[in-house]
Amino acid sequence: MIALKIDGKEIQARPGQTILEVAREHGIRIPTLCYLEGLSPRGSCRMCLVEVANWRGKLVPACATEVQEGMEIVTQSERLRRVRRLVLEMLFVERNHICAFCVASGHCELQDLAVELGMDHVTLPYRYPGLSMDLTHEDYGLDHNRCVLCGRCVRACSEVEGAFTWGFQGRGIETMVAPALGAPWGASDTCTSCGKCVQACPTGALFEKGASTASQVKRPEILEEVTERRPRVP
Ligand code: SF4
Ligand code: SF4
Repeated sequence: MIALKIDGKEIQARPGQTILEVAREHGIRIPTLCYLEGLSPRGSCRMCLVEVANWRGKLVPACATEVQEGMEIVTQSERLRRVRRLVLEMLFVERNHICAFCVASGHCELQDLAVELGMDHVTLPYRYPGLSMDLTHEDYGLDHNRCVLCGRCVRACSEVEGAFTWGFQGRGIETMVAPALGAPWGASDTCTSCGKCVQACPTGALFEKGASTASQVKRPEILEEVTERRPRVP
C-alpha cells in the first residue's frame, strides 16, 4: 500500500490508483469536467488540478496523476480556487454559452461548476465566435457553440462503442470535434446511433433532437455501467 495525505488526512492507497480515485474513495470532492468514469483519463481540462504541498506546491491533474508514497495533497485552497475559476472562465468565454437558451440548462456540468465556484461573472473578454450546428443526424444534434472540447464523446465512441466516429480537427483555439473525419454526422457510415456520445457530453453540445430549452437530461453514468458489465480480458 502507498501512504499519503490528502487535506491533512492520512490515507492508504493501492499502487496505480490516481489521486482522484483515492480522493473519491474517501469522500473528498475534486471538481472534474473531461473525466468520466468508464472512460480513460485525459487530464486535458485542468479542472481537477490539486497541489502537492511537498513537491513545492506543484499543481497536477488529479485524474491523470498516480499516487506516490509520502505525497501531501491539498484539494482546496485559495490558489486552487483562483486557478479553477480561471480555467472555467476561459471555457465560458471561448464559445457561446447562453444558458437561458440551452437544451442542457439545469442539467449541465459546466453550469454546475460555475455555481460551485461562485462564477457569477467573467473577467475575460468574450470571443463570440460564429460557430455552426450539425443537424444532419436523424436522432441527434451537435452545437459547436456549447462544446468545451473535453473529448468525452470521442472516448465514449471509440473506447466503449468501438465505432471511432468522432475525432478532433483543427488546432489550438480553432479545434473542433468532428464526426466522420469532418463530414456531416448524418453521412457517417460508422455511427451506430447508440447515443453514448450524447450521454457522455457534459454540456448542451450534443443533444437529442426534439429536446427544448432545459429539457435535455444526460445519463453519463451509462458509460461506467456498460464498461463494468463487460468481462475483463486477461
Ligand atoms: S452548455 Fe451549459 S454552460 Fe453552456 S450554455 Fe448550455 S447550460 Fe450554459
Ligand atoms: S461535444 Fe460534448 S463531449 Fe464532445 S468534446 Fe464537445 S463538450 Fe465534450
